[in-house]
Amino acid sequence: MSKGKELLIGAIKDGIVIDHIPSKKVFLIVEILKLKNYSQRITVATNMPSSSLVKKGIIKIEDKILQENELNNISLIAPDATINIIEDYEVVEKTKLERLDEVEELVRCDNPKCISNHENIKTKFVRLKEENKYKCFYCEKIISEDEIHLKTK
Ligand SMILES: [Zn+2]
Repeated sequence: MSKGKELLIGAIKDGIVIDHIPSKKVFLIVEILKLKNYSQRITVATNMPSSSLVKKGIIKIEDKILQENELNNISLIAPDATINIIEDYEVVEKTKLERLDEVEELVRCDNPKCISNHENIKTKFVRLKEENKYKCFYCEKIISEDEIHLKTK
């Protein structure tokens, strides 16, 4: 068992640890994972010192398995986060999230005139790889990662 510093804020037996979340995105992830009504143990830490980010946040969720759409939502708002799967207090799997090249249905288009806001069609964004921005497939509005508005909120 690795005695990493994160254990200081409470180890979990089985579940997941989402690490390297930018501090300002921590509570957004709490919201999209609907943790407010979750009945198992949750530890949320924010403004933690980190080597790679200025400050980071960590969320530990007992007895949780992330579904694919939850992983995709996390990768949209915290693409540099890592997901640790914990079994019997040990990290059995560590996954670094990847940015999605194409995003269907998860992101709302901010352009009020966009057809995706008026007709019953799935929203669709395509990532512009050089800049990590996303372009609406329908109206071609370009948004940066910080401007992403998830539909699940
Ligand atoms: Zn649009």
